[in-house]
Amino acid sequence: MRDRLGGKGAGLAEMTNLGLPVPPGFTISSEMCIDFVRTGTFPVGLRESVGAAFDRMGNLASMAGRRFGDPENPLLVSVRSGARQSMPGMMDTILNLGLNDATVDGLAMRTGNARTAWDCYRRFISMFGSVVLDMKALSRDEIDPFDELLDRAKEEAGVTEDSELDVPALRKLVAASKALVLARTGQPFPADPHDQLWAAIEAVFRSWNTPRAVAYRQYYRMSDDWGTAVNVQAMVFGNSGSDSGTGVVFSRDSVSGRKGLFGDFFENGQGEDVVAGKRTAPSIDSLREAFPVVYEELHALTTKLELHYRDMQDIEFTIEHGRLFVLQTRSGKRTGFAAARIAVEMVEEGMISPEEAIMRLDPESLDQFMSPLFDPEAKRRGIREGRLLAKGLPAGPGAASGQIVFFADEAEKRRRAGHQVVLARHETSPDDIHGMKASEGFLTAFGGMSSHAALVARQMGKVAIVGCSSLSFDYGARTMKVSTPEGSRTFHDGEWISLDGFTGEVIEGQLETYDSEVVRVLVRGDLAGDASQDFRWFAKIMDWADEFRRLGVRANADQPDQAQAAVQLGGQGIGLCRTEHMFFGPGKIEAMQRMILADNEVDRREALGALLPLQQADFRGIFEAMAGRPVTIRTLDPPLHEFLPHDEEGVEELSRALEIDAEKIRSRIDALSESNPMLGHRGCRLGISYPEITEMQARAILEAACDVVESGGNAAPEIMIPLVGSARELELQAGLVRKLADETIARRGVRLSYLVGTMIEVPRGALTAGEIAPAAEFFSFGTNDLTQTTFGLSRDDVPKVLESYLDQKIFSVDPFVSIDRPGVGRLMRIAVEDGRASRPGLKIGICGEHGGDPESVEFCEELGLDYVSCSPFRIPVARLAAAQAAIRARQ
Ligand code: PEP
Ligand code: MG
Repeated sequence: MRDRLGGKGAGLAEMTNLGLPVPPGFTISSEMCIDFVRTGTFPVGLRESVGAAFDRMGNLASMAGRRFGDPENPLLVSVRSGARQSMPGMMDTILNLGLNDATVDGLAMRTGNARTAWDCYRRFISMFGSVVLDMKALSRDEIDPFDELLDRAKEEAGVTEDSELDVPALRKLVAASKALVLARTGQPFPADPHDQLWAAIEAVFRSWNTPRAVAYRQYYRMSDDWGTAVNVQAMVFGNSGSDSGTGVVFSRDSVSGRKGLFGDFFENGQGEDVVAGKRTAPSIDSLREAFPVVYEELHALTTKLELHYRDMQDIEFTIEHGRLFVLQTRSGKRTGFAAARIAVEMVEEGMISPEEAIMRLDPESLDQFMSPLFDPEAKRRGIREGRLLAKGLPAGPGAASGQIVFFADEAEKRRRAGHQVVLARHETSPDDIHGMKASEGFLTAFGGMSSHAALVARQMGKVAIVGCSSLSFDYGARTMKVSTPEGSRTFHDGEWISLDGFTGEVIEGQLETYDSEVVRVLVRGDLAGDASQDFRWFAKIMDWADEFRRLGVRANADQPDQAQAAVQLGGQGIGLCRTEHMFFGPGKIEAMQRMILADNEVDRREALGALLPLQQADFRGIFEAMAGRPVTIRTLDPPLHEFLPHDEEGVEELSRALEIDAEKIRSRIDALSESNPMLGHRGCRLGISYPEITEMQARAILEAACDVVESGGNAAPEIMIPLVGSARELELQAGLVRKLADETIARRGVRLSYLVGTMIEVPRGALTAGEIAPAAEFFSFGTNDLTQTTFGLSRDDVPKVLESYLDQKIFSVDPFVSIDRPGVGRLMRIAVEDGRASRPGLKIGICGEHGGDPESVEFCEELGLDYVSCSPFRIPVARLAAAQAAIRARQ
């Protein structure tokens, strides 16, 4: 019932059914939240149902007569949000609800511990104040007002730990907190537990729509219509003394995936300490030492939950006077590395099937296997030179170098200006999400492996080091102080640091990075596969993915080394070789420019003659790398002015180099200039105007293919004409290509087959696909251009509208990232259906950027395409996405 009860509510109900020690409570369903958000009032009957639920709770034997609001034997509750998918820290939670000046004494009496009672009371006022009464820091340079009171109280009492505050100090802190509420809100702190409860429920409902929650859902593509459930649950007290505590435990390591108990445990603390990362948590090993029996019980319970849910669990627990309670269980967030290892090991343990393993993985997370690490020599050098600054907890693996920024907004701004940044803070909060997204990595002084910064890093695949306690911050001065054994060092905003997210080391300056192990094994070939654990998990998953997928996966590549990488990463061919990229190398661009500057066919043919061997050599390299796999080569596509200089200096230089009058160059540039080059003289229109260009390219491709075949290899060229909008364009261009190809093959006397096809990348091409197909042996969707021309929105200018279009829900996602199914997708469907109706069995692929986007891959499966093509390093993501799409299509 996760959709109605939320992940947390469903988990609590399930654990209760399993007979685990869960404190009693009830869940208000997420429909109630949506109803409230829409109408602004509590749904009819909700108050009565909540009252009845409280009565039932009060009658439970485990409650020992505790009643909500009863000053003698008070029942205290937590009120916690919980949507169907976890949104860590995004929505609100209130603990210790039900306390007031009367019930605090009742609690003190019952627990025999006045300190616990007053500690709960001050925590409650602070949480209620900040969450329900919205009493946050007024400016970003200010700290939380309740934290400020707490710090002052500790200072006055001369102690450093919260747990050292005694009852008189806590009483004073409670009074000061209440005074702060009155001063800030003009209202006294609500004393009636029922008022507290309904205000808290309302706050949780409303927290569904805070800007940060909305932004989070947008980022993770979750629906705004789900709503959050509200869990009201009897409190148990981890802060009841030294025989109590609270923690979070994972059934496997969320960073590496290794099996065993991992997590944080606070003796004599409450849950918020762990989650908010306000105190740096000792590891779960401290629990084993302090509470060996409870540790074993926790271990057994964790194993039971993992087996029940058949997935790695993230469990919140509390120990009250030596008694263990479970407060929550959910599938644990994990790094891409951990996800892969856990999936593979669970299959090996017989817990799940390979199909389930495949379905569980987020294709995007495979990117982590491809991400760079520090060059070990550069790092050793840095350390030798005394640049190791500090060590924290390695919460997000990988290597990140960047300029220090202290605020999320600034991280975002700098990123937009093209800088590489590391967000450094005391701790991060959900308000920082946008800045975290913009950063290479995060560095925090506080927090454990389950703190906000840590969770977000793993989910986003960012590097993070948390709990780095030798750091302190002065946000006002924008400085970070690092205490080292040699003294302290101050770093300013904008200075470079590097984070090793595998070891937790913070190193001064910018460090070189090196390729991941998977890249080394597969692409560079300087590491043996069996010497790398990462590679083992990765390879297993890729094997399984290949068993399930139907779609072929190709690469967009235009250099032999890219082609080689593509093959190593599982590419089955090249789906797009953009020939224009081949004209930019040294010695090539001059020939190209000479060709463009020619003002008659004779000169143009002469210049093309010089280009031919250069292109031929390039193509040969690619065919060799692809060893007989299909290689789709596109004829020249961009407008010609892109190859000419853009400023006067360049014109002069070119004039000298080619010995052509500068004036002539200028006038040619003028003649080539266009109002809308993207909609101008480009694509097949160039080949229509200058057929000799297409002829030269066709000849270079075929000569290269013949070279390869002659020397004993294989080649499968597929020549692709871009930007076709009408059958006649393709007929003319394909006719030229076929004539030249047949001549070349006949002259060379080799056995070689080739295909000629077209890109479908303008709406007219899609709409008239039935007419185009007879001249095309294949189609390939150029969804970059198809998106831009369908929306009438330039792919280069989309950032200008993107933010407001996403905000105002005109776009649910950037259509240049994920295929717009109703618009662009509809055109694709027409092209597939009409194309195959007039040419049965027509081979169809996609080579726009969408070919590496998992959701678009799923759509391609739905359309029945033959393959997707993406950048070489996205191939693993596409293989996994294709497997998932095939499995889903079967289900
Ligand atoms: C496309 O338009 O989708 C495409 C692959 O071609 P290009 O990006 O080179 O225009
Ligand atoms: Mg295009």
